Amino acid sequence: MCSETNRRQLLGALGGALSVGLITTQAEGATVTALAITCIDYRLVDDAVKFFDSHKMTNDYDQVSLAGAALAAVSAKFPSSNAAFWDHIAIAKQLHAIKKVIVVDHRDCGAYKVAFGKDYHGDGAAELQQHKGVMTEVQTKLKKLHPDLASEFWLMGVDGRTERVI
Ligand SMILES: [Zn+2]
Repeated sequence: MCSETNRRQLLGALGGALSVGLITTQAEGATVTALAITCIDYRLVDDAVKFFDSHKMTNDYDQVSLAGAALAAVSAKFPSSNAAFWDHIAIAKQLHAIKKVIVVDHRDCGAYKVAFGKDYHGDGAAELQQHKGVMTEVQTKLKKLHPDLASEFWLMGVDGRTERVI
């Protein structure tokens, strides 16, 4: 017996479990190393691909782009991005058994400008520290929710050059 109603109830329950991170079963098929989370910024789409290629990760990562990248996980300004960030980590674990989350923020980020307003730091070491503060908050939450996942947090310049932050 598998009526349409039962099927819908099952799908609904599955979606709910995914959204609160309850599903920890094995991946359903092929596995990849990581989930990559980048900003949406059009200037760095090609640089993000080059970055992952240069880390020998070609076609070995899932990817989601959310404005602000790390900021999307925790900023009160972007509540639906908060949910999407954490939902996609749970989904990537379920589908592809990821072992790591790689978050790539970038300098001159419009989402950071929106979120921090007059407190936005748009240059040099101060900008790096602002990203580091957000990244540290995200990493702490990630360790709590998914202690089995490793993480890397990077900051990309508008020229595509990237430095590891934490
Ligand atoms: Zn951005």
